[in-house]
Formats: sequence, structure tokens, C-alpha cells
Amino acid sequence: MRKNIVAGNWKMNKTFPEGVELIQQIVNQSDVVKNVELIIAPPFILTAEASKIIKDSAVKLGVQNCSNYKEGAYTGEISVSMLKSIGTEYVILGHSERRKYFKETNEIINEKIKLNLEIGLKPIACCGEVFEEREKEEHFQVVNKQIKEMFEGIDADNMKNIVIAYEPVWAIGTGKTATPEQAQEMHLFIREKIRNSYGSQIANDISILYGGSCKPSNAEELFANPDVDGGLIGGASLKADDFIEIAKSF
Ligand code: PEP
Repeated sequence: MRKNIVAGNWKMNKTFPEGVELIQQIVNQSDVVKNVELIIAPPFILTAEASKIIKDSAVKLGVQNCSNYKEGAYTGEISVSMLKSIGTEYVILGHSERRKYFKETNEIINEKIKLNLEIGLKPIACCGEVFEEREKEEHFQVVNKQIKEMFEGIDADNMKNIVIAYEPVWAIGTGKTATPEQAQEMHLFIREKIRNSYGSQIANDISILYGGSCKPSNAEELFANPDVDGGLIGGASLKADDFIEIAKSF
């Protein structure tokens, strides 16, 4: 069964006390959200505390990245087993900001996805074209390559535990949202690609989220599309009211 998902990517925002307050606000309001998996992905320093605060609620813990190494002498890195040990369920991987500022390639993302799946964490794997690529009408080609390389060597059994986020880079943090038609046609393209490689059952069950300036005022028309199963939310996830309003848009 395909899940509706709304995931908040806090990026590098909120101090520890501010973050604790926001998590509490989200938890307090979360019972009005029905039939949606509500995920928060705060910065790492908040995650262990977040895990305690959300314990008796329906809110799930996500994070924004992990190491592509299992363990050892990798200063500053966070491993999948560390994440698992505090109750993390979802890991955002291949976000365009990681690709751009930290030079993450599809190959590195593929390594991370595999480590996550091995240990039982669910990757939220991001893809999406930059503005110039859309202008040149290369967006399908770009996303096609990202999907092919990110999921290289991943079998159908593991594919079931992956969530895909389509995030046109030109829409992230810019206030420019993809139109519902642009979102739907790309989501359908991705789903058909998954169908070709993994069969109909997995293609029908996989959740494909839209990300890019999604907010309470546009969430409903985006989520109304048959292949848009929710959103990966940046800016609007930093206010509990907006985040919950988006999750109520189904
Ligand atoms: C994101 O960074 O994943 C994102 C979608 O950001 P925003 O909602 O702020 O565009």
C-alpha cells in the first residue's frame, strides 16, 4: 500500500532549545493529521532528544544525511548504526544542497542508500533538475540518470523500503513551485521507470514526494495529483502550524 508522507527537512536551522520547542509543537498538533506519515528531519544535535519527544506520538524521526562509511576513522561523520540506535526511521539522501555544496555524486548516494537498506533504515532519495536543464528540456534525461545511478544494484526487495523525492532544484527555497502538471508528469515518469525495472507492484506502492516551495497554499493542488504522494518540505516545516496544515492537505 502506497503511503502518503509529509517530511520536514529543517536543514541547518534551529538551535537546540528552539528545535525542542518546535518538535513539541508538532507533536502536540499531530493527532489532527490522518492517513499521513509525518516525519521530521531536524539537525543531528537534536535527533536523540527528538526521538524521546516523539516517542508516544505518530511522528517519525528522519535525518538529513549520513556517512557513506560504516564506522571508524571518519572525523565528523555520523554512521547508519548510530542513527538506528536512536530510533531514526528515515534518512534524506542526495538532497540537491548536498550534491551542490558537498559534491555528492550519484555513486556516493548509492553507497549511502545501500548502507541504510542493509541496517533497516528507509532512504528518502532525492532527484531533480536545475533551472538550465529544464530550460533546455533535459529534465527527464537528468532525472532518468539520477534514478538509474542512485539505485544501481538495488533489488526489488530493498526497493520497497525506499521513498523518492522529486525536487526541481529551481523550486527549492525560491518561492517558485512546480505547477501541479509539471509535478505530476515527472512523478509519473519516475513511477514508470520504477515499473520498468521493478514491476507494477513496487511501482504502485512506492511513495514519490514533491519538494520545492511547497506550502499550505499550494499543497492541496500538488497532492491532488495521482502520482504525488506527499511532500518534502523545507522552509514551511519550520513552523508547526504550516507543517501540520500541509499534512492536512490530502
Ligand atoms: C527542500 O529543501 O527539500 C525543500 C523542498 O525546501 P523548500 O520547501 O524550502 O523549497
